[in-house]
Amino acid sequence: MKNIWRTQEDVTTVPLDATVRFLISFKSDLDLLRSSPWTFDKALLLLAATNSRVDPLTITLDTQNSWVRVRCIPPIFLTLIIGEKLGNYLGSFVMVDRGLNEDYLGSFLRIRVGLKISETLKRCVTLRLATDEPAKQYEIEYEQLPFFCLYCARLDHVGLSCELK
Ligand SMILES: [Zn+2]
Repeated sequence: MKNIWRTQEDVTTVPLDATVRFLISFKSDLDLLRSSPWTFDKALLLLAATNSRVDPLTITLDTQNSWVRVRCIPPIFLTLIIGEKLGNYLGSFVMVDRGLNEDYLGSFLRIRVGLKISETLKRCVTLRLATDEPAKQYEIEYEQLPFFCLYCARLDHVGLSCELK
């Protein structure tokens, strides 16, 4: 099991209920939540940190942190402020990847966003970056996107159980 989590530490897995919840314990802190989304056969594994004082069955698992990319934004607008606004439009903003030089510059804006699994993934965003510029549509790219519903673009089910089908 520890190979799945890419660690040499011992990993303990205990089923919590009859559904699909498990308590997974690691000997040391791993950076698992930062490297999410985690998948198994491309199916989303929702993870949350906890401690021994919290009943793990009370933890709400409804948000998945993911990296998203927005391309074709002029370099002057590759900023924390634009990243924060975009992140909060797509879900809940977590952070912007500052890049190797800590200056956000690159060919795209890379934003860490908490995505509600019950909400539709957005394919694009319309931005007007300056008052003297027209609004323009920018495509959203999701990194390591797990299976999602092709009818409604949500992460909490796949097409067979979709109410839009
Ligand atoms: Zn659906």
